[in-house]
Amino acid sequence: MTTAQTQRRTADELRELAERAGRELEDASPLEILGWAAHTFGKRFCVTSSMEDAVVAHLASRAMPGVDVVFLDTGYHFPETLGTADAVDAVLDVNLITLTPRQTVAEQDAEYGPKLHDRDPDLCCALRKVKPLEEGLADYEAWATGLRRDESPTRANTPVVGWDEKRQKVKIAPIARWTQDDVDAYVAEHGVLTNPLLMDGYPSIGCAPCTRRVAEGADARSGRWAGRNKTECGLHG
Ligand code: SF4
Repeated sequence: MTTAQTQRRTADELRELAERAGRELEDASPLEILGWAAHTFGKRFCVTSSMEDAVVAHLASRAMPGVDVVFLDTGYHFPETLGTADAVDAVLDVNLITLTPRQTVAEQDAEYGPKLHDRDPDLCCALRKVKPLEEGLADYEAWATGLRRDESPTRANTPVVGWDEKRQKVKIAPIARWTQDDVDAYVAEHGVLTNPLLMDGYPSIGCAPCTRRVAEGADARSGRWAGRNKTECGLHG
C-alpha cells in the first residue's frame, strides 16, 4: 500500500511526522510500523541491510512488496555477506540496490596508503560507509534499519520511529524492541535467510578486516573493531 503523495515534504514536516509516529507506534508490531512507513512514504522509503540476516528485508517485503533494500558494498565484505545479498535479491520480493564507495579499495590504498582501516578506521568508515549511504539515501524521506535496543548500551534508546538529524530524514527501527530470541523465532518461523557466519562465531558482522570471531556468550559486538577504541561505524551516530 503506498500513498499518491508526489510533493516532497519539508524537513520540518518530516521531523514532526517522525516525532508523532515515534510516540504513537512505540507499542506497534514491526509489520504495523513498516506498514505505516509504506503507506506514508511509498517509494520514498527504503530499508537498509548489512546482510547479517534478512529479517527486516523480509518484514518490509511483506508490508510493501518490491520495497527498495539498500546494501552498502564497502569492498571489504566477507564472501558470505555478498552471498547473502545475492540470495536476498533472488528470494525476496524486494528491489536490491547496491551502493559502492566512490573509490575502489585499490584507489583508496593509492591515495591514503594500504590498510586505512587499521590506521584510521573512522576515516575509512567515512569514505566507504557514511558518505555512500548519505548519497544513496538522498532521494528517500525515510529509511529503516535493523537496530535493536538490546544490541548495545549505545542503542538502548533507539526509537521505533525517530528523526535522523544528520541526514534530515525519518529513521525507522521496526524491530527496536525485539530481543535476539524474537529475531531467532522470526527466522525459524519464516525460514528467513541469514548470513552463514552467524553460525560460525560471528554474532555481529561488518567488514572482514574489522570483524573478529567472539567467544560464545561474549558481547555480540565485541568482535567489531576489536582493540581499536571504536564501537560504531558512524551510520547511526
Ligand atoms: Fe573500513 Fe573497517 Fe569501516 Fe569497513 S568497517 S569501512 S573496513 S574501517
